[in-house]
This record gives sequence, structure tokens and C-alpha cells, in this order.
Amino acid sequence: MKDHFGRSIDYLRVSITDRCNLRCRYCMPDGCDKVSMSRILTYEEIIRICRVLARLGIRKIKVTGGEPFVRLGCTDLIRSLKSIDGIEEVTITTNGQNLYRYMDELKDSGVDGINISLDTLDPDRYTYITGGGSLERVLQAVDLAIASGIRTKVNCLLQKGFNEDEIFRLAGFAFRKSIFMRFIELMPVGIADPSQGISNEWLLRKLTEKWPDLEPDADIHGNGPAVYYRRPGIPGGIGFISAIHQVFCDKCNRIRLTSQGQVKPCLSYDDGIDLKPFLQQSDTELEAALKEAILKKPVKHCFTASRFGSEEHRLMSHIGG
Ligand code: SAM
Ligand code: SF4
Repeated sequence: MKDHFGRSIDYLRVSITDRCNLRCRYCMPDGCDKVSMSRILTYEEIIRICRVLARLGIRKIKVTGGEPFVRLGCTDLIRSLKSIDGIEEVTITTNGQNLYRYMDELKDSGVDGINISLDTLDPDRYTYITGGGSLERVLQAVDLAIASGIRTKVNCLLQKGFNEDEIFRLAGFAFRKSIFMRFIELMPVGIADPSQGISNEWLLRKLTEKWPDLEPDADIHGNGPAVYYRRPGIPGGIGFISAIHQVFCDKCNRIRLTSQGQVKPCLSYDDGIDLKPFLQQSDTELEAALKEAILKKPVKHCFTASRFGSEEHRLMSHIGG
């Protein structure tokens, strides 16, 4: 379905849990509140909402969190979402720490893509930024995902004074592994302070100085706002998701479903529609609420490079990124 500004909304991001086995400092540091399980949508509720959304034109679903694999039955959910009429693609975003346990069942579920988050290739830095994660595990996850033949991408968040000195190493990793490395600008959601983020304009300039043959790649490699660059004859490439320095809202095709059942028209605003009351009602009423949420999509986000350039103060782990 189209929103008020003529944008086709065909992509849904679903946060299936606010819980995580890591504590990334910009997302969910130690001590953050957890939502009680009784307030989290059940899988049956998520499937029902997705079924109704498919009737409204949603074609692609991203399963995210928190960390999706900390919720039991995550791969069964993916299988169920895949079987909904109209849904063409289901993908997942993970920190990769437990992928080795779930890789076989994930492949069996029919998942169409795996995004793995990886901000640094330095083991100590990785453990620091993730509040205890293992670099070895996530690198193993990248290799397992690639070997599975499922489309694999890596997401990387750069921060001043933390990993900006690794840009060539991280980009080189993508070329070496023949995958896409997507650099996401730090957004002012939850506790994150985007003044600590790195502009993708700066990053592109630096990467082009090192690799002058880097050129825009018009092919679409995902469902989102990333802009891709590659080097002729070299597999893999670089994606830029530049929410702060290059507003892409005119092409926005997405809505979000939080772990607690709020449908969010835009990441930057905290408003949305709580679907819980509508889950007690018929599909017709649920569909009307979902339509209203799509029609509430603002023309653009309110992010700026300031900590206060957002109305969304909930943690990213509750929303799903
Ligand atoms: N746990 C999974 C993971 O880390 O991939 C899925 C959820 S996580 C919230 C999804 C993505 O959001 C991660 O790639 C993470 O780096 C990104 N993220 C978290 N906080 C962010 C922020 N303030 N700005 C931009 N991206 C953010
Ligand atoms: Fe967990 Fe992902 Fe947030 Fe890190 S970014 S704390 S892995 S939800």
C-alpha cells in the first residue's frame, strides 16, 4: 500500500525480543531495563500481524531484536513467516555470537539473507564495544553464513576515536570475503550520541582516495536505503547507510513492529500504534489499525547529528534498528 506521500510500503522490520546476549555500548549497555516476557508479542501474534500486513502489500520481512537467536523458536518463526501468502523474502540480523548453533536450522527455515553486525576486527575492541562478545565467534559466523550459500552482509557502525582507524581493514575484509560491508551512521536513538558517529561522506572520500576505482553500483543489494560501491572485477563491495548526512526518506519503504507490539511508522519518532488492543479484535479492525499506521508515516525523519535530534528515546534493542 502507498502512504500519504506516494511511497510504496513493502518492508517490515520485526523486533522479536528486546533481550540480547551482548551489551553494545551504543545500543543496550549493562543495566538497561528489560521488558517482561509477558509484554512481548507471542509468535502467533507476530504471524497474524504479518499475515494482515501481507494483504496490505508487505513483501519483505526482517527479523531482528535485541538478538533474535536468544528467543527460542526463532527459526520456526522464520519458516512460518516464509509461508505467508505474499511474503517474498524473510531475512535476519544477528550479532552472530550463536550462529554456529542455529546455522543448520536457519538454512532449513528458508531464510533469504543474513546480516551480521561487526564493528571492529580487533579482538579486544570487539569485546569492549559489545560488552563481552567474542570476535572469533562472529568471524566464524561470517564464514558459516557465506559457506551456507545464503546472501550474507556485514553491518558496521563507526565511531570517532574507536574504530575509524580500521576503515581500510574493514573494507578490505569485505573484498577478501566477497561480501558487502555496510557502514551505518550512528543514529540518535536510545542512548546513542551521534556526535560520536562518523559521516559516510568522509568515509567514502577516504575509501576513494585509497581505491580510486571504487564506483557506484546501481544494482540493488537489499531492501533498504543503502547506496553501494564496488571495484570493477573485485567481488564484494561497500554499502553506505547514511541516515544523518544523506536523508533518504523520499525512498523509505518500511515500517517497524516493536517487540511489545507497537507499529512504528518512522524510526526517529516515538509515536506509533499499539496493536495489543486490536489483537483482541477481528482481522478487519487489525488491518484498519495497520493502515492508519502506514498513513501516519511522516514525510521525513527528524534525526540530526545531535543527541537531541530524535524523538525516540527507547533503546534500539526494543525497536530492532
Ligand atoms: N542484535 C542484532 C545485531 O546486532 O545485528 C540485531 C539488532 S541490532 C539493534 C541491529 C543493528 O542496529 C545492528 O547492526 C546495530 O549495530 C545497529 N544499531 C544499534 N544502535 C544503533 C544506532 N544508534 N544507530 C545506528 N545503528 C544502530
Ligand atoms: Fe545486542 Fe545487537 Fe544491540 Fe549489540 S546492537 S546490544 S548485539 S541488539
